[in-house]
Amino acid sequence: MARPPIYMDHNATTPVDPRVVEAMLPAFGEHFGNAASKTHPYGWAAAKLVERARESIAAGLGAHPEGVIFTSGATEANNLAIKGGAWPLRARGDHIVTVATEHKAVLDPCERLAQEGFSVTVLPVDRQGRVTPEQVALALEPRTVLVSVMLANNEIGTLQPVDEIARICRQRGVLVHCDATQAVGKVPIDLDALGVDLLSCSAHKLYGPKGVGALLIRQRMPRLRLAPLFDGGGHEQGMRSGTLNVPGIVGFAKALELALADLTEESARLAALRDRLRDAITARLPGVIENGHPTERLANTLNLSFEGVDGAALLVGLREVAVSSGSACTSAEAKPSHVLAAIGRPKALAAASVRFSLGRRNTVEEVDAVADAVVREVKRLRSGSPLWKS
Ligand SMILES: *Cc1c(COP(=O)(O)O)cnc(C)c1O
Repeated sequence: MARPPIYMDHNATTPVDPRVVEAMLPAFGEHFGNAASKTHPYGWAAAKLVERARESIAAGLGAHPEGVIFTSGATEANNLAIKGGAWPLRARGDHIVTVATEHKAVLDPCERLAQEGFSVTVLPVDRQGRVTPEQVALALEPRTVLVSVMLANNEIGTLQPVDEIARICRQRGVLVHCDATQAVGKVPIDLDALGVDLLSCSAHKLYGPKGVGALLIRQRMPRLRLAPLFDGGGHEQGMRSGTLNVPGIVGFAKALELALADLTEESARLAALRDRLRDAITARLPGVIENGHPTERLANTLNLSFEGVDGAALLVGLREVAVSSGSACTSAEAKPSHVLAAIGRPKALAAASVRFSLGRRNTVEEVDAVADAVVREVKRLRSGSPLWKS
């Protein structure tokens, strides 16, 4: 049987850490109760697990436990922040600001608000994928009610200057949301210090289970109230009805604890692997362009464009590696990545791009094997290609 491909697509999802699975098991068995059942010990035990997880997640991210709203993931957290944040402010203003390289789970809720009559400014980025605080300041209008800027980009790894952007928004009384899904567990985050009002994250990007995430709300006076996306039992302070995913929440907290415990060492290890991978490829191939910011970036993410290569053919040839081209979330549509377009890459070059996102189990040997495979395939495709002259 063929060996399974080397997994380098950790920005799409991560395997659940066995220690996380272990921590979740009691919540499927002995403590199966509904955390909202107040009349018996089954409910109390489940509620206790949830509250312990809530406290741990809050402590890990510099938030208050009351400000942790559990959701089904970051897509829901982003929708709750953006639509749930903007709707109640409609009387005050109808303008929102976001950035061209945001995840679709931010851009599409903004688009929905635009259909409802809000006006949306989508800020461009520079060639490294950065937006500046000055751009945001200039975009703010008296009727602006919400700004949404991600912390780390899922495709190219570029970090945004979110703390400075948040400071400007606070001074102007504008609500600020941050999709931190790719940053949580990879870079240290302190919600209070970062200063955003709302922060989205998801367990399955940090070796936790799929289908659970959170929207963190920074404590302030008066307390922020969001319009719920759906109506029901009034769980999570009325902002997110639905029986809590107790095993998922327990797993989320455990995954975050593990990621934060060796964040510094693991980041250094991943950055070294990432640089080794890039160097091993660029030393042997001309016409390779790196996408993203040279320093303000995630340690695990490497995005390369290969001149003179057909992107689809490249991925077909790279069967021994699990990576993504463009964005995994939109690759079903085979449309060139909106992120690579935003940093000015022409369509053909964007199509010939590969995102390598490294993770906890990747080794030096794997990096070397992947580099060899990439060099082999690119050379093969270039030889005899009318797109490539050298
Ligand atoms: C994965 C991801 C999402 C979506 O998260 P889900 O929990 O899968 O809904 C949102 N934003 C970013 C930046 C992501 O990487």
